[in-house]
Amino acid sequence: MGKTKYVFVTGGVTSSLGKGIISASLGRLLLARGLRVTIQKLDPYINVDPGTLNPYEHGECYVTDDGAETDLDLGHYERFLDSQTSQANNVTTGRIYQSVINKERRGDYLGKTVQVIPHITDEIKRSITQLGRSGDYDIIITEIGGTVGDIESLPYIEAVRQLRWDLGVENTVFIHLTLVPYLSASGELKTKPTQHSVKVLLENGIQPDVLVLRSEHELNKDIRKKVALFCNVELKAVIQSIDVSTIYEVPLLMQDEGLDAYVLKKLRIKDQGRPELKEWKEFVNKLKSSELEIKIALVGKYVELHDSYKSIIESLTHAGAMNDVKVRITCVHSELIKENNTSEMLSAYDGILVAPGFGHRGVDGKILAVKYARENKVPFFGICLGLQCAVIEFARNVLSWDDAHSSEMTNMTKHPVIDLMEEQKDVTEKGGTMRLGGYTCELKKGSLAQKAYKKDVVRERHRHRYEFNNDFLDDFKKAGMLPTGINPDSGLVEIMEQKDHPWFVGTQFHPEYSSTVLSPHPLFIDFIKASLENKK
Ligand code: GLN
Repeated sequence: MGKTKYVFVTGGVTSSLGKGIISASLGRLLLARGLRVTIQKLDPYINVDPGTLNPYEHGECYVTDDGAETDLDLGHYERFLDSQTSQANNVTTGRIYQSVINKERRGDYLGKTVQVIPHITDEIKRSITQLGRSGDYDIIITEIGGTVGDIESLPYIEAVRQLRWDLGVENTVFIHLTLVPYLSASGELKTKPTQHSVKVLLENGIQPDVLVLRSEHELNKDIRKKVALFCNVELKAVIQSIDVSTIYEVPLLMQDEGLDAYVLKKLRIKDQGRPELKEWKEFVNKLKSSELEIKIALVGKYVELHDSYKSIIESLTHAGAMNDVKVRITCVHSELIKENNTSEMLSAYDGILVAPGFGHRGVDGKILAVKYARENKVPFFGICLGLQCAVIEFARNVLSWDDAHSSEMTNMTKHPVIDLMEEQKDVTEKGGTMRLGGYTCELKKGSLAQKAYKKDVVRERHRHRYEFNNDFLDDFKKAGMLPTGINPDSGLVEIMEQKDHPWFVGTQFHPEYSSTVLSPHPLFIDFIKASLENKK
């Protein structure tokens, strides 16, 4: 295929309608027809990246292999497309302004007044088309965060309006996602919010080509006709997106509704037959049909917002389908776990996963959860801070170093078993300064990790400042807590496992960032397998 083509996805009426899932689903369908696709997210907030955002604000921060801290929607893109994204796939207003201001300081604008239009909009356009210039993609799907009508998304809407004319009508498609609410009092589905939302887009110079309507109920032909008539789209371009039990069903529903076929028609791309979705369908069938159920405790402190642990929850789901078992995940608040109630809080679960996190709050509960898993031989998976808690627990309760801790939590210890790396000691800025992105890890032969991966060397993504303190490594080894994954370049411990336990693995990296529908992560698969055996 020649020139790269662009699909722009906007949202109206309300936020949280699932633009990310619709974009990822369309991406999967186009990919399944043999096209090369990537997805990009434009975020209208002023943070340069979401790395400095509290998970309560914006959910999980997703990390790409090239070390970018990005929006959690990129996780959906990778999980659906089974391919990697990078910094170029996530652009924020902060990043756009930073780049424009840097150019202004360098004198690049040659004395001109620097303005939102054209300078900010040009920078947005450059960021959108940058991925296309690589020549690696036939289609780029660009999701614009926020809701049309928001003040902060205006420059993005203007930029994509201009792009339609720069790139040509036949090379661009606009998809607008809205909500059709159901009023139970009158038993009616209402299209007015959609009509208003399309009007807002029209005021900004954009006529959407496709409308995807989120709804709790089936939209009949009359409603579809009404929307088509009032919003100037073809009847075929009115796509229903009904609520489903799993997000992984959405590509199949979108295919039934003809979304991908219509987009291809608009882009003048010859329809290459039906998409190849055999494996995807098998996965969805397994998800829906497995009867056996296991219970996993996800111990963390950001549990009030499930989006904080998005990738972990999805990875557990992928691994469940691989093991033909339904994974029932309960988020257990680590602040509520106390010495006198640990067993009561955790005895119902077949496996325990201790989540990543930052800061002191909730750490004591996490350490108690590790102790419970270790002593009761419950399959244990510790991720990042989860591994660090496992190290602290072992130091305190097995090596009898009562004061052992991470220097993130206290300086008042003779046993900083988790400590700041030398190169982190002078770092004062918070944004983008952790150990971020993909690093190589060598696996010890015969370890649980090596058995899971069936490889000797892997590459995994990191996001942390603190590390296992190698000064104490010999003591840990002697007592049965073994380093089974080592970074060959720095000698840093990346994985630890306990001897004499059915399955106890902690990773300094985040395996959850690289589990996809078609390639579930080996460590999650084996954690679920061990939990299943524990249940039996
Ligand atoms: N707070 C810990 C660190 O910075 C762990 C981070 C994490 O769990 N992602 O090292």
